[in-house]
Amino acid sequence: MNSTSPLRFIDTSARGITDTMGRPLRDLRVSVTDRCNFRCVYCMPKEVFGRDHPFLEREQLLTFEEIERLARLFQALGVKKIRVTGGEPLLRRNLERLIARLASIPDLDLTLTTNGALLAQQAAALKAAGLRRITVSLDSVDNAVFQAMNDVGFPVEVVLEGIEAAAAAGLKPVKINMVVKRGVNDASILPIARHFRGTAHIVRFIEYMDVGQTNGWRLDDVVPAVEVLKRIHTEMPLEPVEADYRGEVAQRWRYQDGEGEIGVITSVTQAFCCDCTRARLSAEGKLYTCLFAADGHDLRALLRGGASDAEISEAVGRIWRGRGDRYSEIRSAETVGLDKIEMSYIGG
Ligand code: SAM
Ligand code: SF4
Ligand code: SF4
Repeated sequence: MNSTSPLRFIDTSARGITDTMGRPLRDLRVSVTDRCNFRCVYCMPKEVFGRDHPFLEREQLLTFEEIERLARLFQALGVKKIRVTGGEPLLRRNLERLIARLASIPDLDLTLTTNGALLAQQAAALKAAGLRRITVSLDSVDNAVFQAMNDVGFPVEVVLEGIEAAAAAGLKPVKINMVVKRGVNDASILPIARHFRGTAHIVRFIEYMDVGQTNGWRLDDVVPAVEVLKRIHTEMPLEPVEADYRGEVAQRWRYQDGEGEIGVITSVTQAFCCDCTRARLSAEGKLYTCLFAADGHDLRALLRGGASDAEISEAVGRIWRGRGDRYSEIRSAETVGLDKIEMSYIGG
């Protein structure tokens, strides 16, 4: 097995703005809520996100009109792909209306990440509204492990039904994200690979990251992607697939016998900051240029303060041009104590 990463491309031809390291603005992740019906141990631990946690109030959230306006401005600055996320995005009321608005923007790849709990009910409406693809987070196909990880006792069967409903609605291929935490769900790596092999769904194994301040992250909890690949390769031989665009975060592998594809996301062991083309918009309209940023830039104040499209675009352009983030490349003892934003707030 060859464990080198697939080739990375530099796309200098397309229009748009670049940051201090020459990285274009290509992807926007839009969080539509900071609330969630799960309490995944690595993301929203119960002790921190309890009943009295101060979640955002409705009027603090960007409206669908505001999100659409920003999405159009970002698209004009070079964004090619928008991912709707959260918290749990399917908890946002009438989400399909936002999807319809975003789907009406030309030349935009539109996708969504969900925990899948409400997907069986909503898949057809999301597809009808114009959603093209979907990613479902699923940390185990073993019900006991899954329930321990979501920490609200949510049954895995319901998420599996959601995945099938999404595929049946035409949201294909379904991508499945598994965050691997050593000693918690690493025994589920092979079962999940076996379960989805031959189904056309693509499982991506994600290294557990030190996002936020609440998950008590330790390097020992990370299962390096190379170890994940070795475990799978031993039973189901793999070969690499080349990346097909700059900023593709997953390294792609396929089964040698043609039974499908998997991916690994090496955020910890092989940082990909040099290719990071992603901006993140929080549910209250703050723009973050890195998953590990402490502070965001308040675009809602501009939107609600009467700024023109040109003024907002100019502000976003200025922020992106000044960007020098590369947290994962410099992750070290000095960065451990930094004030970092929570994943459930910014959406992954
Ligand atoms: N609630 C939705 C879901 O779980 O798919 C969307 C938001 S969630 C924050 C987005 C992604 O971030 C999920 O795939 C989740 O597994 C991942 N994630 C959360 N905390 C993480 C961590 N500490 N390390 C790696 N991935 C993480
Ligand atoms: Fe909720 Fe997603 Fe975070 Fe799990 S990973 S707690 S489902 S936001
Ligand atoms: Fe991008 Fe920041 Fe992650 Fe590096 S650490 S890949 S710059 S989000």
